[in-house]
Amino acid sequence: MSLMKMFRLTICGPRERTSLRFCRRHRCLVTAVLVNLLIFFYLAVLQHRRSHILQPPSRQISGKRISDGDKEIIIQKNTERLVTVIIRDFEEFDNDVVSTVKSFHDLNSLLNVLVICDKLPYPPLLFDKNFDHSRLQVVSLTMNPLKNLSFTRPETFIHTPYVFIVPDSTKLADMESLYSAISFLKKSVNFHSLALPVAGSHLECLLAKVDIKRWTMEYLVDSDTKMGCDVVMGDHALLITKQHFLQLADPFLKPFSVSFHIQSILRKWKTFIFDNVGLTVHKILYSEPHHRWKHKHNTKLRLMNMYKKLGIKLVQHSDGRKEWHGCTKETPRCFGTVENDMPEYLYQGRWTPPCCLRCLRDTAKHVFKILDKCGVRYWLEGGSLLGAARQGDIIPWDYDVDVGIYQEDIEKCENLKQMKTESFVDDKDFVWEKAIEGDFYRVQYSESNHLHIDLFPFFSRNGTMTKHTWMKSHRQDTEFPERFLKPLTKINFAGMNVSAPNNVKEFLELKFGIGVIESPKYPNAEDPL
Ligand code: ZN
Repeated sequence: MSLMKMFRLTICGPRERTSLRFCRRHRCLVTAVLVNLLIFFYLAVLQHRRSHILQPPSRQISGKRISDGDKEIIIQKNTERLVTVIIRDFEEFDNDVVSTVKSFHDLNSLLNVLVICDKLPYPPLLFDKNFDHSRLQVVSLTMNPLKNLSFTRPETFIHTPYVFIVPDSTKLADMESLYSAISFLKKSVNFHSLALPVAGSHLECLLAKVDIKRWTMEYLVDSDTKMGCDVVMGDHALLITKQHFLQLADPFLKPFSVSFHIQSILRKWKTFIFDNVGLTVHKILYSEPHHRWKHKHNTKLRLMNMYKKLGIKLVQHSDGRKEWHGCTKETPRCFGTVENDMPEYLYQGRWTPPCCLRCLRDTAKHVFKILDKCGVRYWLEGGSLLGAARQGDIIPWDYDVDVGIYQEDIEKCENLKQMKTESFVDDKDFVWEKAIEGDFYRVQYSESNHLHIDLFPFFSRNGTMTKHTWMKSHRQDTEFPERFLKPLTKINFAGMNVSAPNNVKEFLELKFGIGVIESPKYPNAEDPL
């Protein structure tokens, strides 16, 4: 009896046993066996791959003594599956990118290297004729009309679980130490990235705070390196998982390490300084004075661009030094025309940029000094008085300073008299002008920067202070009894002692409503973010 016939006799029902074709039960069994075999094969492949990626190479040959040579081969064979080397920061006029790429390929010819540039470098990166380009990708972030979108997206070329971002001209001593750094990062719970010093440079580990709402970054005291760092200063390479790296808003923002650390802080990630990896410098860059100057200049421009993109306008250093990246007399105001009393930054979840508050304070100081000198009776109005009552300063999301003056006092002051007929720039570059919106005056920070103080002329009508123009979007813009100005008092505002109505609380509650000092609200009546 043939084997097939026996099979049919045992598996198939009596009616089907005589049939020469395979019965239904028979077909089911064969299919089930095949499916099982396929699943088993797939799992075996998966397990094999995983063991290559996740297990330390030494564990792969168990029970066998591995010679140093074997170990090196195993590491060489595997690390390229773990990590992609990225070179981001380099200068076109003086770089060592070609040698840096080559030195990594000399250690492991299968290692993927990604060179990311804003535009294709000129002069071009020239590799030897026999250089194998299959493991190198140069990605230009500038679009090329002939190429598709993915060509300008570096992330399409990262296929490993880790990325290793190195400064130009960094040379790695051996793959084993990079492997040990990867193993360390894989095991660490508290750190998201490792900073690896280049050429034994001493790395500073700093704590820092980034306050997006206030457009501010603040460097705090040095951190205990064991606890991890918010910012690492000094020449270093960075190791991080691809998954975390691509969670950053702009992981390729230059200058690389600063932009990386700032974005990490926003995600509450810590960097650990790992100094067991042999990284040396291949070539001394920018040795020519002109190149040095150009590099310094470019770095400054890149930093400015980075702060602009991240929306950081004030950097406070731990020694008290303040670095401004916001508006000045020469630049336009940081925000556009305000519609319906709600400046655009409030919709972005941010408050008034610190540079704008600073310019507003400067303008207010300048104007109050002149009004005091002329003997013009003035008082803080609306939101400015509210800010003074609350915290002795401009409300953190306010965009101008409002001041009331006695209309009859305009004649006492040359600046006010002149601005009635024509706008003019004073000797400190402030612009005095009549507002287009109505019968009031405005002092602007400069001709370019339109941050301003509004001066509203009031006059008394039978003991009620009134004026000619009313702002519909300002609920606080109302008449009030003159007794609040008799006498005028003083209030602390932005570091000055300025003129204010008496009974400030009563005055403010008359204008804004009961409890206004205690419960801050945005102009559109929402609670502050
Ligand atoms: Zn500004």
